[in-house]
Amino acid sequence: AAQYGIERWGDGYFSISPDGTVLVSPDPTQPGFIDLKALVDRLLERGLELPILIRFNGILRDRLRRLDQCFSKAIEDHAYGNKYRCVFPIKVNQQREVVQQIVEEGSKLGFGIEAGSKPELLAAVAMGTLEVPIICNGFKDEEFIRLALLAQRLGRTVLPVVEKVSELDLILKVAEEVGVRPTFGIRVKLATRGSGRWQASGGYRSKFGLTVAEVLAQLDRLLEMGMGDCFQLLHFHVGSQIGNIRQLKSAILEAARIYIDLKQRGAAMGYLDVGGGLGVDYDGSQTDNESSMNYTVQEYANDVVYHVQTVCDEAEVPHPQLISESGRAIAAQHSVLVMETLGVTSQGASDLPEWAQVSSDDAAAEEPAFSDDNLGENRLDEATLASRLQSEKPCGPPEEYEQPVHDLWDGYKNLTPENMLETFHDAQVALDLSMNLFSGGYLPLEQRVAAETLFFEICHRARDFANELDEIPEDFQHLDRMLSDIYFANFSLFQSMPDSWAIDQLFPIMPIHRLEEEPTRHAVLGDITCDSDGKIDAFVGDGRRTETLMLHPLRPNESYQLAVFMVGAYQEILGDLHNLFGDTHAVHVELDGEITKIRSIVKGDTVREVLGYVQYEDRELVEAIQQAVENAVVHERINHQQAGQTVAAYERALAGYTYLTSHRNAVAIE
Ligand code: PLP
Repeated sequence: AAQYGIERWGDGYFSISPDGTVLVSPDPTQPGFIDLKALVDRLLERGLELPILIRFNGILRDRLRRLDQCFSKAIEDHAYGNKYRCVFPIKVNQQREVVQQIVEEGSKLGFGIEAGSKPELLAAVAMGTLEVPIICNGFKDEEFIRLALLAQRLGRTVLPVVEKVSELDLILKVAEEVGVRPTFGIRVKLATRGSGRWQASGGYRSKFGLTVAEVLAQLDRLLEMGMGDCFQLLHFHVGSQIGNIRQLKSAILEAARIYIDLKQRGAAMGYLDVGGGLGVDYDGSQTDNESSMNYTVQEYANDVVYHVQTVCDEAEVPHPQLISESGRAIAAQHSVLVMETLGVTSQGASDLPEWAQVSSDDAAAEEPAFSDDNLGENRLDEATLASRLQSEKPCGPPEEYEQPVHDLWDGYKNLTPENMLETFHDAQVALDLSMNLFSGGYLPLEQRVAAETLFFEICHRARDFANELDEIPEDFQHLDRMLSDIYFANFSLFQSMPDSWAIDQLFPIMPIHRLEEEPTRHAVLGDITCDSDGKIDAFVGDGRRTETLMLHPLRPNESYQLAVFMVGAYQEILGDLHNLFGDTHAVHVELDGEITKIRSIVKGDTVREVLGYVQYEDRELVEAIQQAVENAVVHERINHQQAGQTVAAYERALAGYTYLTSHRNAVAIE
């Protein structure tokens, strides 16, 4: 199963058992693990249906501890004179259970929460305790600021961070009304920009923060008012998922220089908040591509600590308390989405016309593949096919068939590794000609089918030849993709992994069982939305992005389950209701010694709930159906029993899951 690259991106949390299933080790330093397949089977037995989002609380805790350990080590190694804490940006995953875990474990480490809006602040204040600091970013109105200052009056560490000059005016005004001496931070616009998708978060033209000139002007104003002690924190953020550590280094250096200057001018300071950006290695390539990072968490911690320390020491300024707003790096790994495959369609799997066939007894004896189409599993191997084409000499297309079909047949019959490139090019031309003839009304339908079938057969055979070569010719490099199967799975891309659609984010995807078997099918994935964008055709591969995912042929009446990993950051809340597919079921799982415990099951949206979001009232819907049924009874289209059945089916569907209910699971529930 090396093709899935699990050793690269699994980061110790995910591996493969000798039985070919995926194992989850929530705390890789401990011996215990959870068999993902066995866990899913258990959940299905309890009557849940796929898709299910599984959250591993242990992974969340481990992420927090790892971050803390890396900073503790860096602080110790460099003899840094202050401490570090992370404030978890709640926008990355606001689910109550997730935040609760983070607060529980994080408060032991002195960690806190970052809130970016009024609802987030209200949640954070309620979830936190006196020891849990809260940093408030984002644009703020008077109410937001009042909430923060009221919390300060309660003795909480709730620091509003000024993003616009007018917010400082509000802080000063509200503080007087509330009767507190306010403490706050300021976000500065650095010249340093990140790179990649979120580069606009930094730089002079970024949406948030004050320019250095504005910060200085506000400091002068505060000093004049005798309020220099209120300005305690300097914050910057250069974007999420920073792939290249060089960008972070430059930003940290720039911010540290601004920090010491402000301190020397008379601001109290004390905290330097380096924002988010700590990456996640989604594809395991350890490079600076957009789905990876070319550094480790330890290197990140070392750089933050070392650069701040050097700049402060030069200026003889005390070391500030370091804060990072790492969200992605804490939450991404802990959630896994498991989904069921529904079926498969394969490219060019139609039977050749009788005049093109050779006997395929050997292949027919093999176990037939199960699929919507013939999956091509019983295609003859190249050598056998070539020799039979010669010895059995199938008769070829009838004479009256158009020339391009004859050309395709000749190409197919005489294909060899030596002429495959030329044959492939000729076949492309012949197919184009056939389609032109067809559009003009000169090619009957069965000839068009023959032309297409022969073309795809040529492609399949050429691909097999090409895969034997050390270097695949450029023209054949996309053949795997072109000939790949589409495996349909019961999920909505827009609900469960919106970043895959919106920004081409890569997530590791693989089957959770049958991993002791060699996967033989090149596949892309389709979801169940009625949207052709609802597909995945870029995969993590083994250290290199691939256009297809290798999967196993489906077997009759057997479930085949896939998992999407690392969906714990941003995906849940960014997900939308496209086609009214709602939230999936979510399950929190805990490993207690050797025992896997299901901590809580949060049922996904019902049809009734998603319809409610778009203002359909349950009662009115049922009434309308009852009316329609009544009419049908009056007109004797249905009898009373059928009327009852129809309304009952409608009501059952309203109460049901928005995703497809697979027959297998339905049986399990009964
Ligand atoms: N802080 C701020 C101000 C942000 O805008 C973000 C997200 O972009 C974060 C923190 C979290 O960043 P990350 O998830 O990369 O850690």
